[in-house]
Amino acid sequence: MIIILKRNASEESMKQISSYITGNGLEVHVSHGKEVTLIGVVGNKDLINPDHIRSMKDVDRIVPVTESYKLANKKFHPDPTSIKVGNTVIGPDNLTIMAGPCAVESKHQLLTIAHAVRDAGATFLRGGAYKPRTSPYSFQGLEAEGLQYMQEASMETGLATICEVVSLDAIEQAVKYVDMIQIGARNMQNFILLKEAGRSGMPVLLKRGLCATIEEWLNAAEYIIAEGNPNVVLCERGIRTFETATRNTLDLSAVPVLKTKTHLPIIIDPSHSTGSYQYVPSMAKAGVACGADGLMIEVHDNPACALSDGPQSLNFKKFHQLTEELRPFCQLVGRTF
Ligand code: PEP
Ligand code: MN
Repeated sequence: MIIILKRNASEESMKQISSYITGNGLEVHVSHGKEVTLIGVVGNKDLINPDHIRSMKDVDRIVPVTESYKLANKKFHPDPTSIKVGNTVIGPDNLTIMAGPCAVESKHQLLTIAHAVRDAGATFLRGGAYKPRTSPYSFQGLEAEGLQYMQEASMETGLATICEVVSLDAIEQAVKYVDMIQIGARNMQNFILLKEAGRSGMPVLLKRGLCATIEEWLNAAEYIIAEGNPNVVLCERGIRTFETATRNTLDLSAVPVLKTKTHLPIIIDPSHSTGSYQYVPSMAKAGVACGADGLMIEVHDNPACALSDGPQSLNFKKFHQLTEELRPFCQLVGRTF
């Protein structure tokens, strides 16, 4: 449930309400919004008396939260969340562009790509050091060595960095070298990994599972936030449907739907969703137009020779052209990048 306080409620009343709730073994999460201040309550509601709460000073009303996710719920936190990572902010006023290779292949490759994407307007370098490939015989990533190159690229370019983690060991390594960790589509419901990502204290990008509903996705985000880590960004990367013309089907409607359900930022990945560089620009623009807070785009210096996901990677020229084409879209939706 959430307890909505009257306008100008005193600090004293808020403390009294909070201590009644915590004294009965439940948790409180206070949100000071533009319109109202509210207290979100998490825990066994049977242990508290709603009539008693309603009678307390400065309580306006109680609203039940029927969804199983609470901390990720917009009802708990009506204003959109913004998340600072390195020198960049992911959130309602910006369009955050994360770009880079599918996989970190070498130091030279990564540094070359890092400079190119930064010069075109990206503020984040993406690069996989642990690659969850469909085939066990495909390139699996440089692992810790790849993470070190990500750190070097960040020091050289000032870009924030993001890397996927696939195991508890990978999280332990990644926190030393990158600014944000990514939970990939295949691990969206790996609850042990989600909890550990929450405990890491790092900002987390949570990709939507290949067959996950929006509700399952938000519950996965809840696992991370429930560990005390509110810095979660959602990433729509396409879902499995009957259509085979694209690698996955980009569910753009997830963006407006999520904006009604959660305060967390949401970004669009037009690369993994379409699987083809030809479709990336259109879907990137569509993502901005429908309200996404950012884009994750695969870029490679020589896509034809990429060790992973070459067919969906943009070369430097195409990426630069796309960022130029995105500027008027950003202006229309009131975002800067
Ligand atoms: C990736 O971003 O490198 C990746 C593997 O994406 P996804 O988990 O969406 O397939
Ligand atoms: Mn990829």
